[in-house]
Amino acid sequence: MSTIAAIATGQAAGGIGIVRISGENALFVADRIFKTVSGLKLNTLSGYKAAFGTVFLDEKPLDEAIATVFRAPKSYTGEDVVEISCHGGLYVTKQVLRAALQNGAVPAEAGEFTKRAFLNGKLDLAKAEAVMQLISAQGEQARAASFNTLEGALSREIAAVSADLKTVSASLAAWVDYPDEEIDDLSDDAITRSIDKAIRALQALLARFDSGKVILNGVDTAIVGKPNVGKSTLMNVLVGAEKSIVTDIAGTTRDIVEETVTVGNVVLRLSDTAGLRDTADTVERIGVERARKKIENAALVLALFDSSVPLTDADRDLFALCKGKKAIAVVNKTDLHGAWDTKILDTVFNKVIYISAKENTGVENLEKAIEETLGTADFDPSAATLMNERQYACCLAALESLFEAKSAQDSGLTRDAVNVSIDAAIESLDMLTGEKATESVVNEIFSRFCVGK
Ligand code: GDP
Repeated sequence: MSTIAAIATGQAAGGIGIVRISGENALFVADRIFKTVSGLKLNTLSGYKAAFGTVFLDEKPLDEAIATVFRAPKSYTGEDVVEISCHGGLYVTKQVLRAALQNGAVPAEAGEFTKRAFLNGKLDLAKAEAVMQLISAQGEQARAASFNTLEGALSREIAAVSADLKTVSASLAAWVDYPDEEIDDLSDDAITRSIDKAIRALQALLARFDSGKVILNGVDTAIVGKPNVGKSTLMNVLVGAEKSIVTDIAGTTRDIVEETVTVGNVVLRLSDTAGLRDTADTVERIGVERARKKIENAALVLALFDSSVPLTDADRDLFALCKGKKAIAVVNKTDLHGAWDTKILDTVFNKVIYISAKENTGVENLEKAIEETLGTADFDPSAATLMNERQYACCLAALESLFEAKSAQDSGLTRDAVNVSIDAAIESLDMLTGEKATESVVNEIFSRFCVGK
């Protein structure tokens, strides 16, 4: 296998930048571009040793750096690895990488370090995917859920279900081959119990997926309502900073302003959209159209209403636009005298929250309502969590096979038929952890990683 190299740290200036080299020639490549102050070759060092020295490009000194040596199999990839920690300038790190590439390494593909770790048995697919989630985690719960998956919470759960099913499958296969033998635990009851237990475990995993997804990936959230209802003000309250322009002139929030805020456990990607109303102003009209689209695409809608001015057609339009969406009605300006009966909202929205964005009252209730609506209030990051749609699809396929096994069992089909479905379930679970994933699936997964990971 080739020796690969890439910049492992972010593409921004920083105190330290790391160029990682992995493969059977990693130490030779590093020795060609790095001279230790002691004169010792890196190739003579044992694993977990570091040396201070200078990196060279075209025989000219480039930067002072520290080279850390990892020896196979005790490294991230399971191969020999050298990590060169140089100064974290964008140009400097690129030149160090260039030096490595000129001296025998090839550029690492996206996710190739982690892919090699997977191929060398350092982690399974569920854990590899957790690495990606951990890197992109934006909040504590996302970090905790990803970290626990990396530590094996999901892999253990899947392995336990799979191991039980494999026992049943082996017994069934033995029975099919030797129908006259006495085989332990192979009563119809015992088989049904095992299938039911596996079904319950997978159902519990699948049921947590939606809230897990929200925790891991955040939620596209649209703040909508007619001009001047207080969208920018609410967004500023949630963000805690003056980002949107707040004015008294209707229609000032012309474009979509995006912000990321953490509400309880959840990261919301908020977009404060142009007010919903018909307008002759072309620029604004584009904004209104975008607002409608934003509602369509948002996973959560905060529909704002102004309690201090009478309800308008634009408000009623919102009722229709929010139908079938996860939407919370937010009645704003409750510090002013009420101009209409807000009870009508109860007939349209599941949740109606009263706030004054200006005086910052009622916002905790809104945050609670958001968590309730998204189902994340009781999310437990220490429990096994499916990391992405691929894992969900594998889990669902396994469940469907188990239902087939159950109906084959209940309708008195042959044990062979039952076992075909149980084996299919096992295969889906093996695909989830990567024990049986095809090369193209594996390549697809790692291509979504960033280069250097
Ligand atoms: P947008 O057009 O929906 O983004 O509305 P803005 O956030 O720009 O607010 C329009 C006006 O309403 C501004 O003068 C705000 O200060 C005012 N406003 C916003 N929220 C409240 C509130 O809760 N109470 C009162 N009294 N005024 C508010």
